[in-house]
Amino acid sequence: MPHDHDDDHDDHHHDNELSPMAARVKALETILVGKGLVDPKAIDAIVETYEHKVGPRNGARVVAKAWTDPAYADWLRSDATAAIASLGFGGRQGEHMQAVFNTAETHNLVVCTLCSCYPWSVLGLPPVWYKAPPYRSRAVIDPRGVLAEFGLALAPETRIRVWDSTAELRYLVVPQRPAGTLDWNEDQLAAIVSRDAMIGTAVVAAP
Ligand code: FE
Repeated sequence: MPHDHDDDHDDHHHDNELSPMAARVKALETILVGKGLVDPKAIDAIVETYEHKVGPRNGARVVAKAWTDPAYADWLRSDATAAIASLGFGGRQGEHMQAVFNTAETHNLVVCTLCSCYPWSVLGLPPVWYKAPPYRSRAVIDPRGVLAEFGLALAPETRIRVWDSTAELRYLVVPQRPAGTLDWNEDQLAAIVSRDAMIGTAVVAAP
């Protein structure tokens, strides 16, 4: 399958080569920190916020709604882009989305083997490991081994399906709703859906 990338894509530059924008940001950060104008910890905190909080919370809302509203889950299955946009999450790097649902038989895992295509609109910034060559190459060759390194041991009979993202199509994993949450509302459910569970390197544990 071809892996085409549009001109809008930020991560064409592979391995350790910084994109022009990333290089400029890095240079600016170095100057500001050097002049004592910016505390590096503050920058780390901002990145941390976008990596773990703001972005993935959008995806968690989508998952929680799919868990509690069967009609929404059907819509998400048939037209994820529209179903996600209906919650206000759309735009750049989220134009063409597909939701892949974990089941008792099948676990889904998302990678971008060529670079780092990622659904920004629902997950925010990709984690460093997602962009790293070891994950990108090994997720396809040895998904079970990769998941084990993330601390996720699936049953041997569980099938793992790996989805290779492109700039044209990005994936959101809808984890299985854990047992013991039948009386939980959407807010409570959204709170337990992690970023990694929506990439497929984790599952949502029973409370
Ligand atoms: Fe990519």
